[in-house]
Amino acid sequence: MKTPFLSKDKAEEIAKKYGTPYHVYDEAGIRRNAEGVNSAFSWNKGFKEYFAVKATPNPFILKLFKDYGMGLDCSSMAELKMAYAAGFSGEDIMFSSNDTPAEEYVYAAKIGALINFDDITMLPYYLENVGEFPETVSLRYNPGGTFSISNDIMDNPGDSKYGMTEEQMEEACRTLKEHGVKHFGIHAFLASNTVTDEYYPTLAGQLFKLAVSLKEKCEIHIAFINLSGGVGIPYRPDQEPNHIDRIGEGVKKEFEKILIPADMKDVKIFTEMGRYMMGPYGSLVTRAIHEKHIYKEYIGVDACAANLMRPAMYGAYHHLTVLGKEDNEADCMYDVTGSLCENNDKFAIDRMLPKIEMGDLIYIHDTGAHGFAMGYNYNGRLWSPEVMLHEDGSFSLIRRAQTLKDYFATFDCFDEFKDMEEV
Ligand SMILES: *Cc1c(COP(=O)(O)O)cnc(C)c1O
Repeated sequence: MKTPFLSKDKAEEIAKKYGTPYHVYDEAGIRRNAEGVNSAFSWNKGFKEYFAVKATPNPFILKLFKDYGMGLDCSSMAELKMAYAAGFSGEDIMFSSNDTPAEEYVYAAKIGALINFDDITMLPYYLENVGEFPETVSLRYNPGGTFSISNDIMDNPGDSKYGMTEEQMEEACRTLKEHGVKHFGIHAFLASNTVTDEYYPTLAGQLFKLAVSLKEKCEIHIAFINLSGGVGIPYRPDQEPNHIDRIGEGVKKEFEKILIPADMKDVKIFTEMGRYMMGPYGSLVTRAIHEKHIYKEYIGVDACAANLMRPAMYGAYHHLTVLGKEDNEADCMYDVTGSLCENNDKFAIDRMLPKIEMGDLIYIHDTGAHGFAMGYNYNGRLWSPEVMLHEDGSFSLIRRAQTLKDYFATFDCFDEFKDMEEV
């Protein structure tokens, strides 16, 4: 069973202040989980999680991770600038970009971020635009083919646009060494939202072997291995959650098997988790405003895919709880829909829920990562506010709702919108 981190009363209290829909985050949960991550990898002295900013780009949330010695993983100018504004710089920022514009490398270099090169052609591009390489450089690897865990195919790296082949990794190391680079990192992201404790250990095994080989062939110092993101969460109530302790232990086993004998015990383990750090600690709260009885039963809510795109985009499952009716029998089948003129704007299809009355608050689970962040403005639908629920039960606004004035702001070439009043 999935339990909301918010009571109906608290949800109504927030709604009274900020309206619905809203995204709300559970500070206590975020903190507890961050501690668990550090503890799971405490066997590795240099361990560092670089929270993937794209999952939840809000500076109030980014700052929380600073309390745990964590850094940030950025992939664009906006993310770099937000990270910097939130107090991160230097090796607390990992710049894991691809298809990167020159000015982003220039800015990343300026604030001293660790650069993770997605491709070998980026090396001359970087030199041309930034000048010399930093002392420490990271390289993104793509093994090609398929990525399997105990015979189950998890993903298809061979079809993915990211990273370099093994031959290119080797060539990049030699080139960078000639240019004075002293320390190297290796990065790979081979499967997304993995709900198995085996993903990181399996990936680590592959990267550790590659590290030993590159160290020996190119005579370089491997400073860190970046396991990137991809650790998943149980969106469905019947899924078994990942156990971060077992994941940490699994990586440790591979470390002891492969890196220790190669005299590489100083290698630091980095991660760039987004979903695992935030997914369960955010929810989208929305109100039932219409019901419709045609060939199916529909409940219309005041949120739509503009607030949470995952169901429309990937057919992703998000669990729903009708607040205050947690103990009622789920004996009604509904499609729960938003207002977009798109038939895929449905938060749930054929979902068994307790009988919903107009005005009920519906809690959409696990929207803390890749939720608000993927929001868009189709149909002129605006972004909701973001609210932080603090450990003592108080709450605060961490991003106000978008207004029509914001929406029209880029039409400053159209006179009628220029002096638009707040609506
Ligand atoms: C998206 C992304 C992440 C985070 O992925 P999650 O699935 O949220 O853990 C980490 N690193 C890179 C390079 C990414 O693109």
